[in-house]
Amino acid sequence: MATRAHNFFAGPAILPVPVIEAARDAAYNFADLGMSIMEISHRSKEFDQVMVEAQQDALKIMGLSADEYAVLYLGGGASTQFAMLPLNFLHTKADYVNTGEWATKAIKEAKMLGETNVVATSEDANFNYIPKDITWTPGSDYAHITTNNTIYGTQWNTMPDTGDIPLVADMSSDMLSRPLDFSKFNLIYAGAQKNLGPSGVTLIIVKKAWVEEKAKKENLTMFKYATHIKKDSMFNTPPSFPVYVVGQTLKWIMNEGGLEVIEERNIRKAKLIYDIIDAYPEYYKGAVANKEDRSLMNITWNLPTEELEAKFVADAKAKGLYGLKGHRSVGGIRASTYNACPVESVEALAAFMEEFKKNNA
Ligand SMILES: *Cc1c(COP(=O)(O)O)cnc(C)c1O
Repeated sequence: MATRAHNFFAGPAILPVPVIEAARDAAYNFADLGMSIMEISHRSKEFDQVMVEAQQDALKIMGLSADEYAVLYLGGGASTQFAMLPLNFLHTKADYVNTGEWATKAIKEAKMLGETNVVATSEDANFNYIPKDITWTPGSDYAHITTNNTIYGTQWNTMPDTGDIPLVADMSSDMLSRPLDFSKFNLIYAGAQKNLGPSGVTLIIVKKAWVEEKAKKENLTMFKYATHIKKDSMFNTPPSFPVYVVGQTLKWIMNEGGLEVIEERNIRKAKLIYDIIDAYPEYYKGAVANKEDRSLMNITWNLPTEELEAKFVADAKAKGLYGLKGHRSVGGIRASTYNACPVESVEALAAFMEEFKKNNA
């Protein structure tokens, strides 16, 4: 295989080498069938096994039971979940915490469907922190948070206590990056292209009893969670190739030793960069206000001028370090250090940051 670049793109993003290799092989000849995984029926027993394992492995990694939770692999991206969630569960009112652009987009959809209370927001400070001490609205149908804010580089490092209000999370950019008590959530969704696989599929974990008891019965067929649960995520043609790749990523996570090992490595990687930000705060200006809100997945900072930021991105690219430009809405620099990003890539970035400062201070 050709040399791998140091890849810091925010999404679609880096995947583990064994996963890329498995995808390459399955793209040509899957399970010795003489056919690509892309060329076989989703009703074949070979694909059915791919889907079933991708569902079982996700639950195994999260420590959840199939009696309680359903695993769905649907199209439409996390953005479709912004609408599907309130379409199913917003009866009287829902609580949302606004921690960035993706949360804002989720709120916009909910508002079109019912009373939506933004119970906390960090918009006042350009989303550079995670709100604490939130008062939830009694009787809300659910409470929605975005566990990692891909654009701003903040992350919930302790999950909120919402009492008896069902907790829902958009985990698109930190899904399976750390051990969590996943049983605290009634529904979790994640677009695959940040930390799990290619674009084109969204992983949804949902409490079956919640759907049975609370989801609206009268709804468009494709937008009902119940439709997809009933058919084990095969109501219509699933995005079969992306599901295969996510399934391979799940096996990789288990082979690596599970979420504890993954988290330990993610902490080690992020520390390499945050240590430099902390060593030169006048030069590498961390974008996140409170250290406890720093993301392990998307590390954001600014340089003293926009010119230096542009030079930083260009010089990094010339050294084989890709994808460091901040999101177009905020500028600055962003290094995404997802599960699959190797320690060596982050070490190369840290060395580059030291050198760049020396040459451009
Ligand atoms: C990327 C992202 C989304 C949007 O995902 P799509 O799959 O493109 O719809 C939503 N939420 C978060 C937190 C993201 O990082």
